[in-house]
Amino acid sequence: VGRWLEVGGGIGLALLGTWIARPGGEPEAVAQPEPIGARAPGPRVTEEGDRRVGDASLPPERFGSALSYRLKVRLDAVEHRLKGEGTITWRNHSSVEQREVWLHLYLNAFKNERTVFMRSTATRGFRGGKKPEQWGYITVDALTAGGEDLWAGAERHSPRDEADETDIRVPLPQPVPPGGEVTFELAWTAQLPSVVARTGFSGSYHMVAQWFPKLAKLEPDGSWAHFPFHRLSEFYADFARYDVTIDVPTDFMVGASGERIGDERGDDPARRVVRHRIDRVHDFAFAAWDGFEEHLSTADSGVAMRALVPIGESDLAELELDEANNGLTALGARFGDYPYPVLTIVHPPREAREAGGMEYPTLITTGGPWYRPLFGARNIESVTVHELAHQWFYGLLASNEHEHPFLDEGLTTWATLRTLEDRYPGRSAFAGSRWALGLTLDHPALARAGAARVAGNDAVARSARAFVSGKDYGGLVYFRTATLVETLHRLDPDGVDRALAAYSAAHRFGHPRPSDFIAALADHSGPVAAEAARKVLLERATVDFAVDSMWSDEAKAPLGIFGDPYKPNPASDSVGGHEGVVIVRRLGEVVLPIVIELQREDGSSQRLKWDGRGPHHTIRYDGASPLAAVVLDPDHQLLLDHDLSNNVRQRAPSRVAWRTWSHASFIAHALIGVLAP
Ligand SMILES: [Zn+2]
Repeated sequence: VGRWLEVGGGIGLALLGTWIARPGGEPEAVAQPEPIGARAPGPRVTEEGDRRVGDASLPPERFGSALSYRLKVRLDAVEHRLKGEGTITWRNHSSVEQREVWLHLYLNAFKNERTVFMRSTATRGFRGGKKPEQWGYITVDALTAGGEDLWAGAERHSPRDEADETDIRVPLPQPVPPGGEVTFELAWTAQLPSVVARTGFSGSYHMVAQWFPKLAKLEPDGSWAHFPFHRLSEFYADFARYDVTIDVPTDFMVGASGERIGDERGDDPARRVVRHRIDRVHDFAFAAWDGFEEHLSTADSGVAMRALVPIGESDLAELELDEANNGLTALGARFGDYPYPVLTIVHPPREAREAGGMEYPTLITTGGPWYRPLFGARNIESVTVHELAHQWFYGLLASNEHEHPFLDEGLTTWATLRTLEDRYPGRSAFAGSRWALGLTLDHPALARAGAARVAGNDAVARSARAFVSGKDYGGLVYFRTATLVETLHRLDPDGVDRALAAYSAAHRFGHPRPSDFIAALADHSGPVAAEAARKVLLERATVDFAVDSMWSDEAKAPLGIFGDPYKPNPASDSVGGHEGVVIVRRLGEVVLPIVIELQREDGSSQRLKWDGRGPHHTIRYDGASPLAAVVLDPDHQLLLDHDLSNNVRQRAPSRVAWRTWSHASFIAHALIGVLAP
């Protein structure tokens, strides 16, 4: 992917790199995919109405505990260090008494070369794979509850890993029964690393993410879902209310999660104090810089949008606001309204580009290369829509990104692909320009090419830490998921649209699992789609259809003895027309319906449909003209079909071969073949 970014960049493939530039992971204990069959997890613990956070029309248990963070933080912009203090009010919303809590101290991933994050081997060449020039860390300076010191009894490192300090067990002095509440008082210091894996500083630019001690996710059954920070993994947490006061130098602008409810000079006139608040989100991040210019706009959907871009880059702001406006409407129509009043877009400066291309609640960071206008690559549009689409999958559905990254990154990639393709049909990835010699490229072709490289390497529905390389992770989680959903959508657009709408509505704030997604497909598109998804996601099954053979001859009267053996019928006279046989095979494990086009010498053609069941399918041909060619899937519905070279068979060479590849598919595939490591 690193090479894609650099080499492929100039010809528009950098957006692959932009998206899959996730922190990398390490090959460890392989988690088994979740068994399918179970629907949503069992009933969740409910809580009284007065504790609920957010929209009363939504079931209160969806918000997990009445969790709230009230934090105050001061940025030392010279040392790139934050001093924080505040309270976390936590309620045991599980059905089981709790004797401990788990804290994620994820900034410690950048503390030294021995952390789980830094010693990962899975991401050579992957963005985030390089070492920070300056190391970062987070220290808990105090953690108390009711005046009692909890930090003294806390573990000092991640479970069974002396070198890692990102996943910390904190015993509670008294057990907390279901429904019981604790207020933690805390103080901490966060030293930002130089920009690495979407966090850190570059010059006076500060992207402040993973910056506070954060509670892991308490599951309804009383277990804690907690993880060291792995390179390929992202996050998982309970929904919460955040009230964050940020103290920065007075000439700094702050882009942060949530609504700004205060912006004042500090007691020190050289300081500026901004306060942000937001409910029903599961993280909080901010950017602070003295080099931003601000652009405000109201989306058609009513959301107040704010773009912060480097001074002088107002074109970027206009482009990103326009794309976000379109995205809020389009994604809202597909996956339910965006429920927050604000959206902030942060475009980092070039030297901090590794802090770009990331999603946080109501805050997205973008990025984009200089060559875009010259070659017509839609990188900036793509990254804007991609990070925005995360607001639904990462944000509102909030699946476990560590265990099931495809539910976020994969569905987000498909949502991006569809949103852009609906807006710029056929040119959604690469608009073309004079300099690009008329080359255009669409996102489905790009996703297909990215997925085909790794098809069958592994199942898609793996835990982030289980992928052996960044290439597998990116190709499978992002592109194979998107290619699967796009294939099913091409076969049954209405059913798959309904399935995704129902999945998004039923599990909003609900932390859905793979079985929920597959169940929605079964309910709304049917068992074939659900089974295809299950096989591709959980069993690393592949899709491949092939024309085995094809022939036709002049139709002759049948040879042999019929009836009276003493009066033989005339031998083998032409009876007019042509007859023949076509054999099509299903080589992959996945059953999908496929269209078979029979092309005749006279230029006419005929289409048949095969349900794809069984290992092969025989068609008896009977027509006025000889068979010229057989083309499988002539409309490119089966984007998952990973070998397109066997989709055509013809009598005379090279007449229709091009038809098996869409123009764009061919280009994307060829480019990736040449450029990818
Ligand atoms: Zn993403």
